[in-house]
Amino acid sequence: MAKKEATCSFCGENRSAVKMLIAGISAQICDNCAYQANRIVQEEIAHHSKSGIGTSKVGKKLKLLKPNEIKSHLDEYVIGQIDAKKVLSVAVYNHFKRLNNPNSEVEVEIDKSNVILVGRTGTGKTLLAKTIAKLLNVPFCIADATVLTEAGYVGEDVESILSRLLQAADYDVEAAQMGIVFIDEIDKIARKSDNPSITRDVSGEGVQQALLKLLEGAVVNVPPQGGRKHPEQKMIQIDTRNILFICGGAFDGIENIIANRINRQTIGFSSSVEERIEQDSLLKYINPLDIKTYGLIPELIGRFPVITYLEPLKEADLKRILMEPKNALIKQYVRLFELDNVKLTLEKDVYDFIVQKAVEFKLGARGLRSICEAILTDAMFEIPSKNLEEFNIDLDYAQSKFEKSKLASLKVA
Ligand code: ADP
Repeated sequence: MAKKEATCSFCGENRSAVKMLIAGISAQICDNCAYQANRIVQEEIAHHSKSGIGTSKVGKKLKLLKPNEIKSHLDEYVIGQIDAKKVLSVAVYNHFKRLNNPNSEVEVEIDKSNVILVGRTGTGKTLLAKTIAKLLNVPFCIADATVLTEAGYVGEDVESILSRLLQAADYDVEAAQMGIVFIDEIDKIARKSDNPSITRDVSGEGVQQALLKLLEGAVVNVPPQGGRKHPEQKMIQIDTRNILFICGGAFDGIENIIANRINRQTIGFSSSVEERIEQDSLLKYINPLDIKTYGLIPELIGRFPVITYLEPLKEADLKRILMEPKNALIKQYVRLFELDNVKLTLEKDVYDFIVQKAVEFKLGARGLRSICEAILTDAMFEIPSKNLEEFNIDLDYAQSKFEKSKLASLKVA
């Protein structure tokens, strides 16, 4: 007798009539039914979130930390960047003070304190935003402005940012509505003003306009799974009024704009002001006007009342980053070895060597990790099977391991 063909336990369809049949312990499901089941689950999640079923992870009242408490916490994880930390601590404090007092008797409505962080890549912008969100225990997501496009173009709708926040909040709408969104590379959607021939600026002004909608504190329809919206999809409504937006961008070349502005303003007064300002520290004079000249539209800038900057990291900062933060890289390696009952030590000049290579290879703080990996991978491979109590890394060892690594061959001319 011929063997009976397997069928889907849900719709009864034969194996040969479907694309795929997934077998469980005592049942099978075909690709069509799996797809349907997934849709039902998503719709249920959307429905529950809308009706507020489920308990929000974010308490009714957030514990309000004072700005200096927020800054002290940031100090534990982020090296330097004193001005940015102060400005950010105040912005976050004001933001949550506003959230905790929605029906103030005084008829002054406090505006939101969305923040723009300007500074070179790898100076700690994302780290600052992430650390704050963790401290406040609110949902947090990172979005990349460069993948966003106007509706109708290939890319992601701006609403996908909120999908991500919703996912970070485990689909708890109430929690998501109090979350923090970090939008990276905001400078990349600047208006390309020097190219008037572009009639439809897909990746620039159009996206800025679309972003405005999120920032204006509106109720936005969000596709729970992100990506492009399509007509049959169930949407979740998110009120963005209390979401804190922090944007980061390198704004390459903005120093020239600042220098020009300062120059212009000082004409007729004193030219010595300009002399006092070193090129590297020009960023501290950044103001909304510079961002506008760079190509962000005034309406968008208006939604970011707080603008601050991050300083380029110097060698001494990189060394501190290696050793000092609560979860500093070296502390992490020491802990990894400790878990194998091995005491890892690094000689002083090894730290200098790592920093020197990060600078030489123009890798900045981000490169510290790959350099450490290059030096320590062999040790991490071998030591668990050796009966060692201690492992010391001296300069010779570090140099030889680094030279043999792939990184060494990447040297830029
Ligand atoms: P970006 O400014 O490009 O957002 P990130 O915050 O992502 O930079 O920094 C990349 C990595 O470099 C961080 O994860 C962190 O390990 C390290 N780093 C950068 N700046 C600092 C800093 N100021 N203090 C401590 N670590 C830093």
